[in-house]
Amino acid sequence: MFTDTPPGKANRAGFLESDRMKTLDLPKDGRLPAITKRIEEAVKAEKGADVRRACTEFLDVASTFYDVPTCSLRVLAARPLRIRESWTTELFGDYDPETMLIRVWMRTAVRKEVTSFGTFLSTFCHEFCHHLDYQKFGFHDSWHTRGFYERTAVLYHHAQGTPPKKLFWVPMSGERWRIDWPRTNRSGSNDSAV
Ligand SMILES: [Zn+2]
Repeated sequence: MFTDTPPGKANRAGFLESDRMKTLDLPKDGRLPAITKRIEEAVKAEKGADVRRACTEFLDVASTFYDVPTCSLRVLAARPLRIRESWTTELFGDYDPETMLIRVWMRTAVRKEVTSFGTFLSTFCHEFCHHLDYQKFGFHDSWHTRGFYERTAVLYHHAQGTPPKKLFWVPMSGERWRIDWPRTNRSGSNDSAV
């Protein structure tokens, strides 16, 4: 997982602010973890309608908590041809800031393998964090900064009911960073899906 190259001067301040913002307020109750359990059952059973229902409930609860408009959701069986995200790894979701639509899909593009639940949830939290960037924090772009990945991980671990994990970063060329997974996993819990 890599961070984006920092943008030019005009957007630099927002980028740096996103990079510095390493945590996210979390609900004090257990509603999101409870809903996440249902998402897990539905993903594992490959029941798309149940996945959609549980994920929609998650988005409603989370959007109310963060005081942002609820985003809409589409759960697809397989990866669509046209996608917006620009991950360097295989993609499992995207977010359109104009329509506030999250799309997640349950099968990989190439081999049509079922997305693991951890990857599915991590993608889902990732896309919701894009929504927060635009609707809560007022960024006019939603960069993949270190802070963005940290916020995503905070939400993911809350939803999973797993202890938050400290992320370790390795600098790359072009002012980019990548997560040092071996070090991150050694220091934290045993879950490597974020
Ligand atoms: Zn993204």
